[in-house]
Amino acid sequence: MKLTYRPYQLKLKHPFKLAYGTRTATDIVLVELEHEGHTGCGEASLPPYLGESIETVTAFLNKIDTSQLDPLRFRETVQYLGALDSDNNGAKAAVDIALHDLLGKMEDRSLADLMSIPASRPTPSSFTIGMSTRTELESKLKDASDYPIIKLKLGGDDDKELVKSYLDQSTKPYYVDINQGWKDRQYALDMAAWLAENECLFIEQPMPAGMIDETSLLTQGSSLPIIADESVRRLGDLAALKGVFNGVNIKLMKSTGIFEAIGMIEEARKMEFQVLIGCMAESSCAVTAAANLAPLADWADLDGPALITNDPFTGVKMENGNMILPSGPGLGIEKVSFQ
Ligand code: MG
Repeated sequence: MKLTYRPYQLKLKHPFKLAYGTRTATDIVLVELEHEGHTGCGEASLPPYLGESIETVTAFLNKIDTSQLDPLRFRETVQYLGALDSDNNGAKAAVDIALHDLLGKMEDRSLADLMSIPASRPTPSSFTIGMSTRTELESKLKDASDYPIIKLKLGGDDDKELVKSYLDQSTKPYYVDINQGWKDRQYALDMAAWLAENECLFIEQPMPAGMIDETSLLTQGSSLPIIADESVRRLGDLAALKGVFNGVNIKLMKSTGIFEAIGMIEEARKMEFQVLIGCMAESSCAVTAAANLAPLADWADLDGPALITNDPFTGVKMENGNMILPSGPGLGIEKVSFQ
């Protein structure tokens, strides 16, 4: 098997403003695995807060002995990748996604079919809007016209104003992502009650990951579900979240790819957690992989390709508010151009 990779930079349509900073582009590394005339494609997305870079991803990829990669023996392959380094979740995800794509092409089956995931259920996705002024919000809502649910990034000084401005301009259901921006428990409880009165669906990662007792009290005191994002990366993180959150946001770049993400969804269900499947700024490669898992989740937040201007692939598409998977084997994605 031959492994090649290519660094690339996704350009964001709008500067992305969150509780912890603003950015205009996201580095990714695209991975290709070639075997017996088939090529599988994967992607590592590298938002700065996850601590990976093009250098750390390429260093990890250079360590791989490709004779140890076997798409027919996934458990062993994932164990091999895990033993190479304890971090590098995005790099591992890129290899995992490429192996799944490759296996689908070798067997002429779609990813959902390989994983026995029902493809028939309509799966809507939310569209994320970074912290915005009233005027910015108007133009971003136009970008969101294909999406039936809106996710508002909050966690600044004017959260209520932002939500009021949203409610003035849109009737679509919405939820909020605080990105750890609320530091005071009473403020968080008051905001959760106010958001419940204003028909918000749920609240993602309201408080810093380290504020476990405060988050637990917020979850007990809130009528809205409280969903973990920054507090959870991998399967082993779930057990500590029982009683602290009502659900988890699972992302391929955190979980080391599809194999562990499916294990996380199964474990989360046993714990009676709600499941959101999310993405970073990602191209249609990794987002199409995640979209295959969406029928297993309660909610999907897979708007990555809609937030960038230079997607190198075509893949999952939005139609009448639902994600439609491409029909080809594996991920079914096709290369467009690199720019
Ligand atoms: Mg989040």
